Amino acid sequence: MQKITVIGTGYVGLIAGLGFVKWGNEVVCLDVVPEKIRKLQQGICPIYEPGAEVQLSDGLASGRLRFTCDAKEAVEHGDLIFLAVGTPEAPDGSADLKYVYRAADEIADYMQSYKLVVDKSTVPVGTARALKEHMARRLAQLGKDIPFDVASNPEFLREGRAVGDFNNPDRIVLGVFSEEAEKRLRALYKVFSRSNKPIVVTSPETAEMIKYASNAFLATKITFINEIANLCEQVGANALEVAAAMGKDGRIGPKFLHPGPGYGGSCFPKDTKALADTGVKYNAPLTVVESVIAANQRQKERAARKILDYYPEGATVSFLGLSFKPETDDIRESPAVAIARELLDSGRFTLRLYDPKAMENARAELGENPRLVWCSSMAETLEGAGAIVIATEWSEFRSIDFRRLPPDTVLFDLRNIYYKEDVVAAGMKYYGTGIC
Ligand code: NAD
Repeated sequence: MQKITVIGTGYVGLIAGLGFVKWGNEVVCLDVVPEKIRKLQQGICPIYEPGAEVQLSDGLASGRLRFTCDAKEAVEHGDLIFLAVGTPEAPDGSADLKYVYRAADEIADYMQSYKLVVDKSTVPVGTARALKEHMARRLAQLGKDIPFDVASNPEFLREGRAVGDFNNPDRIVLGVFSEEAEKRLRALYKVFSRSNKPIVVTSPETAEMIKYASNAFLATKITFINEIANLCEQVGANALEVAAAMGKDGRIGPKFLHPGPGYGGSCFPKDTKALADTGVKYNAPLTVVESVIAANQRQKERAARKILDYYPEGATVSFLGLSFKPETDDIRESPAVAIARELLDSGRFTLRLYDPKAMENARAELGENPRLVWCSSMAETLEGAGAIVIATEWSEFRSIDFRRLPPDTVLFDLRNIYYKEDVVAAGMKYYGTGIC
């Protein structure tokens, strides 16, 4: 059993904290948002993530999990202190590391004994080394002569499947400066030794690069099939059949080959930009990644343009899905929200909006507007709409009864969840992504 502190209780920090408790450790989670901490102390999960609430109540019941806003208490508790704070995009596209450095300062200010600071946030190459030097300087200024170390342990979980991913990772990457750090982290992740999960031990720089390279590669794969889909629409090919056949090739694989309105979320957009920015800084430009960023922007605009062009006079649209992907309430960089905003900004559309979990976040983002009708169910959304837009592929959107809709209804299935022939058989018009 180890004493662990996690700084930041967002999508990564909370799930990591809950996982560490489940593995038998004693965990304190720190956040700067009192409302979040209050909810967590009461067993209420501030985010929607399947399985998290059960783990939260198990964790609290175990007596080995605490939530606090008190940085001193949190820093004093953990021998291992994980950083899981946000690293958002700065105005110039680089990663903004202010939260990471603020957390590091708090650790230096309150630590009284050895700490291993483990960075789980996604940070540019060189951050662990810079953080170590920064903390050493701050400790010296404070007149403290206390040993500490820094390591990198990037996180690869996916929102919507975070609990499963964290407890069953494809690999664990440990970027360390010292044998002592490796020993302590190996002891923590020993829980995976029976299931033979690969543990990659490397330098912090390599660990940091593994995270960015992985995300940029996945974003590239999505963007590649999106552009192939756009071409399919022009030449009369079917992108779904193309992707399925491509995916059968063992060298390519079927994952991340689903055409759609572009990638979004809190990671791919900012991480591709941060990686491209690092490439420019080090005079090793990542031209593929740069064009992926531009192509993804065009993909979102293209999806909106299809609807705008179809209705020069405007329309009332049933808009299904607002989160950036299913099974999360996260709307950060959501293509669905971007498309909804474009339709709204045209001044010609009334949107009847519905998402199973992201309504509150989307409402805060899009604001109140007489042309936005916030509905409480899919059925309510479908009432009186001449067009349906499926912007996020939540499972419940797969059960629309087309026979109950007026036959001239138009379906913009941006996520390709329906078969065109079924929709057309109901007398409706169908527009997918990459399907003509
Ligand atoms: P998030 O915005 O959901 O959570 C960050 C949390 O940190 C917030 O609750 C914030 O209040 C808190 N925080 C900020 N400064 C703090 C401080 N000084 N002390 C205590 N708490 C503080 O972010 P996230 O989505 O969990 O991402 C965290 C990091 O993990 C990012 O670098 C991200 O790129 C990376 N990551 C995210 C995912 C994902 O799917 N969300 C996956 C892998 C890696």
